[in-house]
Amino acid sequence: MFEPKRDFAHKKLISFIDNNLIEYSKLRNFDFGPDQRRNISCLSPYITHGVLSEIEVMNLSLKKFPFVKIEKFIQEVLWRVYWKGWLELRPSVWSDYIINLQAIREKYKEDPKYLEAIEGKTNIECFNEWVGELKTYNYLHNHTRMWFASIWIFTLNLPWQLGAEFFLKHLYDGDAASNTLGWRWVAGIQTQGKHYLASEWNIKKFTNNRFQNIKLNENAPTKISEKTYSIAKKDFVNPEINNDKTLVIFENNLSFEMLDLKKFQFKKIILASNIDELRQIKLSDNVTKFKTNLLHDQLERIKTLSIDCEILTIDKLKDVKDDYYILYPNVGENLDYILSKLSGYKFIYRELDQFSWGFCNKGFFNFKGYIPKIITKFT
Ligand SMILES: Cc1cc2nc3c(=O)[nH]c(=O)nc-3n(C[C@H](O)[C@H](O)[C@H](O)COP(=O)(O)OP(=O)(O)OC[C@H]3O[C@@H](n4cnc5c(N)ncnc54)[C@H](O)[C@@H]3O)c2cc1C
Repeated sequence: MFEPKRDFAHKKLISFIDNNLIEYSKLRNFDFGPDQRRNISCLSPYITHGVLSEIEVMNLSLKKFPFVKIEKFIQEVLWRVYWKGWLELRPSVWSDYIINLQAIREKYKEDPKYLEAIEGKTNIECFNEWVGELKTYNYLHNHTRMWFASIWIFTLNLPWQLGAEFFLKHLYDGDAASNTLGWRWVAGIQTQGKHYLASEWNIKKFTNNRFQNIKLNENAPTKISEKTYSIAKKDFVNPEINNDKTLVIFENNLSFEMLDLKKFQFKKIILASNIDELRQIKLSDNVTKFKTNLLHDQLERIKTLSIDCEILTIDKLKDVKDDYYILYPNVGENLDYILSKLSGYKFIYRELDQFSWGFCNKGFFNFKGYIPKIITKFT
């Protein structure tokens, strides 16, 4: 389903636009099973790694259809940008998550209910099937992610933090912002007091009756968090960018040739690869392999541009001699490492992020109002 190559991703995008995009808003909520995924794009593993940019996806879609016909799809693509911006303005949501996770992990490491859940051995058939699907295909449909998280939190009574870790370990599109905030949203602590409760009829209907007799806690109260997060003011301003410097790119921006920064003549590009020993959340072998292959695919493409390029693990970045730029990797594990271990670098930001994150101070409803502005500027 997910070849780790930009060529493959690009073809997948074109095919989705040509054949399925027009029906997206009508069919997107259905999960017909892992071998019938044409009603959604399945592009997130590529968008998350920057292999396809949000601008490129929107541009090609809007070339074929007017905005009003594909508004829902454009909104979804920009949800991701919104979640990222939301977290950028409140980075302690991520750092608190990582701190809390350590204590919760310790408490639950031998908990039978937790172990049954991650092995797919609960008494809820659909949930067990999704665990298998996640581990095999490293992808779940959006609606299924919502049901999965809701069952985890409200029927199995497990902490959302462990569920979010389980997703990050196995998803090809695992992303600090979309995942952490998605789990918080289901629990009812992102939009305070509004939780998402999965129900038997909804699962039956939107899986096309693939599952029967689903016993869930459909009346659980929302989770409560006393902690509120105020906005940390950040400007995301680029420094003056000089030619002949080194640029470091992390795994979430692997499409250098599509980037608004390619006009600068960088002396060298380093593709930085994170490693499990340095991660707070360890990745499954499939996900590690997927990332490694995407990095190599980007390396080959940059070489054809005659730019000196190599892949380095992030622990080697401290040996880079000159001052260098880092393409900002967003709140998450890579940024945590940079801030705690590296010096002598300057961050540079993508234009789309600089522009859009200014609209992420409130809810998505408010952000939606700025979508026409974003589209006018970037497509
Ligand atoms: C609990 C939970 C955890 C999630 N974890 C992640 C994650 O780690 N990484 C991730 O990329 N997405 C995550 N999502 C969002 C969403 O489920 C996936 O982006 C989507 O399922 C990807 O499939 P697709 O590419 O076929 O999406 P499509 O429906 O085809 O949408 C197109 C693109 O829009 C974006 N998008 C769509 N829905 C959402 C959404 N709800 N939030 C943010 N962006 C969206 C994605 O980039 C996606 O590729 C999570 C959602 C939930 C409820």
